[in-house]
Amino acid sequence: MRIYHHISTLHVVAIAGAITLVATVGLLMTLVQTTMTHTIAASEQRQHIHSLLNAAEDINNQFANVENEDLHHIIKSAKFSTNRWLAELYELRDSSENMSPVTFKEACTPLESLIQIIQNFSKSNNTQPSNTDLAAKFKRQFERYLHGITQLDKLSAKEANAVSDTLTLRKRTSMLTIGVLCLLYLAIIEHTRYWTRRRLITPVEQLADAAIQAMSGADELPQLEDCETHELNALARMLSSFVGTLKTQVKERTSELERQKLQLEREVAVRRRAEDQLRHAAFHDRLTNLCNRDLLMDRLDRCMSRAKRHNDYKFAVLFLDVDRFKEVNDSLGHTAGDQLLIAIANRLVSCLRQGDTLSRSESNTISRIGGDEFVILLDGIKARSDASIVAERLQEALSVPFDLEGRSIVSTASIGIAFNELDYDSPDHLLRDADAAMYYAKAAGKARHEIFNKQMHAEAMARLELSADLRHAFENQEFVVYYQPIVTLSSGHISGFEALVRWNHPTKGLIAPLNFIGHAEETGLIVQLGQWVLNQACHQLKQWHDELDLDFPLSMSVNVSKRQVAEPGLVDVVKKVLEETKLDGEYLRLEITESVIMANADTVTVVLNQIKELGVQLYMDDFGTGYSSLSYLHRFPIDVLKIDREFMSTMNANKNYAGVVHTVVVLAHNLNMEVIVEGVETKDQLAQLIALDCDKAQGFYFSEPLPADQSRRLLQKRPHWIQESAA
Ligand code: C2E
Ligand code: MG
Ligand code: MG
Repeated sequence: MRIYHHISTLHVVAIAGAITLVATVGLLMTLVQTTMTHTIAASEQRQHIHSLLNAAEDINNQFANVENEDLHHIIKSAKFSTNRWLAELYELRDSSENMSPVTFKEACTPLESLIQIIQNFSKSNNTQPSNTDLAAKFKRQFERYLHGITQLDKLSAKEANAVSDTLTLRKRTSMLTIGVLCLLYLAIIEHTRYWTRRRLITPVEQLADAAIQAMSGADELPQLEDCETHELNALARMLSSFVGTLKTQVKERTSELERQKLQLEREVAVRRRAEDQLRHAAFHDRLTNLCNRDLLMDRLDRCMSRAKRHNDYKFAVLFLDVDRFKEVNDSLGHTAGDQLLIAIANRLVSCLRQGDTLSRSESNTISRIGGDEFVILLDGIKARSDASIVAERLQEALSVPFDLEGRSIVSTASIGIAFNELDYDSPDHLLRDADAAMYYAKAAGKARHEIFNKQMHAEAMARLELSADLRHAFENQEFVVYYQPIVTLSSGHISGFEALVRWNHPTKGLIAPLNFIGHAEETGLIVQLGQWVLNQACHQLKQWHDELDLDFPLSMSVNVSKRQVAEPGLVDVVKKVLEETKLDGEYLRLEITESVIMANADTVTVVLNQIKELGVQLYMDDFGTGYSSLSYLHRFPIDVLKIDREFMSTMNANKNYAGVVHTVVVLAHNLNMEVIVEGVETKDQLAQLIALDCDKAQGFYFSEPLPADQSRRLLQKRPHWIQESAA
């Protein structure tokens, strides 16, 4: 059955019930109304009759008290009353519905007789005896009338009571009927409500419950009763099919979500790992995995704050710089350099993780803040000597040779120590002072430690000042080129000069290159300065070639720094200078240090070959100071090995060293290279070099580096040293 039919049925039942109720109530009300009218009429009739009775009884009472002769007064006075009574009785009889006319007759008949008697009486003389008879007759008839009216009164009273009883009965019956009908109607309504609830509301509620449970993801839906309503049945079927589909979709979606959740968790884990790595990377050195500068500064900052709060708290900063690391890096390459740094870092860590009071692993910070610079923060030391003890331990640990790919490398370190005793404002200043102390340790001979004092700070400031002054000096043309002769040992004559720059400082006087070349290298000024020296030297040589009538090919050596070699335009610069000065490339020699060549052999070789194409000869400067292997030499387009002056001094001290030099000379000659030895200061040294078959020599024995004009005069003198030495 459809909902529409259900509702129509309910509608019909409700309307029919209502109509029945209203019709019944209307009917009953009409009946009661009619009965009430009858009751009122009966009551009025009864009162009327009763008043007639009273009037008759009044007259009758008068009869009782008077004599017959006075009766005629009464009769006369009753004349009008009797006529009115009769008229009223007729009227009552005609209007009466309940009492039969026979009933009225008992009163009306004697009354008519009375009226007749009264009329007769009026015509007669009062005193006649016949009148007395009439009066007696009147009295009899009047008694009959009284009897009749009394009966009528009783009947009317009885009738009024009967009508009243009927009214009461009908009222009760009506009330009862209406009550019963109302109850019936209520029962119908209740039944309708129950029916609606069972057929419509309960199934709808069950559907709604099922829908809510389906929405809230219940696995099982409540069993839906089979209801008699077509639409609800359809809805229930649709719901269960929808829930079925939904369940499948939810299952699919859930498994998809679970898959995505797993994927997300994996991604989160990866991201978290990456974040951890990033965080770690942000505060750690990638190469050695030690703390980096940022983390060190943060810890230094904390230590300084703590020191401000606790007077007895002390800490020290050890600034450690690996000695001659640059040479290892330059000669063995960056990979070897990196390995050495890692090995050093490991040594530092194991040395500071011994677990005694000086090396408590949890509080000390070991960091690498750049290149070969390590900083150790000793947190909570008891005495200043603790820092020195640790520095010595570190140096001892580093003194054990390192094994780098089968090569044994001995490395030392210079350490600067600063304490938080001075009133430092920032960790930078503390670090700066430890650095200054380290610099001092380096200058004092390396492989040692120094504790910072204020004098060191002043020196560091001076060095800083020097760096700042350098550029200014270049712009002010404060640099000057000196020339030191190079002597060919076979002839004893000068065969060339080495151009060596000096800084003619306005207040400090002539400053040697070792005091500023490093700074110029750091600031990059060396590129411009080196180019300028090259230009000056070529120009000078060309001038000497042109002005002096030389009978030999005088050459000029110019030093080229690491930074210049690394610059892409070096070949063009050399070419340009040769063009500008109109000097033939065959007279120019470029000196490049051994460590620079070894550092990046492949790229340097390309540059060297391009320079060679200009006819320029190449010297490997400071040979013997780096870590170059003799077996590599043939790979480079080198014409001359310049043996460092340290060899000369070592040879003096150790006579066996001569054998080493001789080996180098033989090897160089085999490779078609010449050998120049630097630092020849004595006649004996010269004789030794001649004996070792060296090709050329340079040193104070021949001449110190000289300004251009003095060099020119020396050249003009054409000195011949070998003869002197031989002499
Ligand atoms: P270097 O190229 O090895 O130059 C030789 C150095 O040894 C010169 O020092 C020279 O004065 C010094 N010398 C020569 N004979 C003797 C001797 O018998 N005894 C002693 N004790 N020393 C001797 P200088 O002029 O102080 O130059 C030092 C270094 O500065 C040079 O070493 C070179 O590496 C660098 N340098 C000088 N001028 C320049 C330049 O124009 N450019 C570049 N890049 N470096 C330069
Ligand atoms: Mg040189
Ligand atoms: Mg040299």
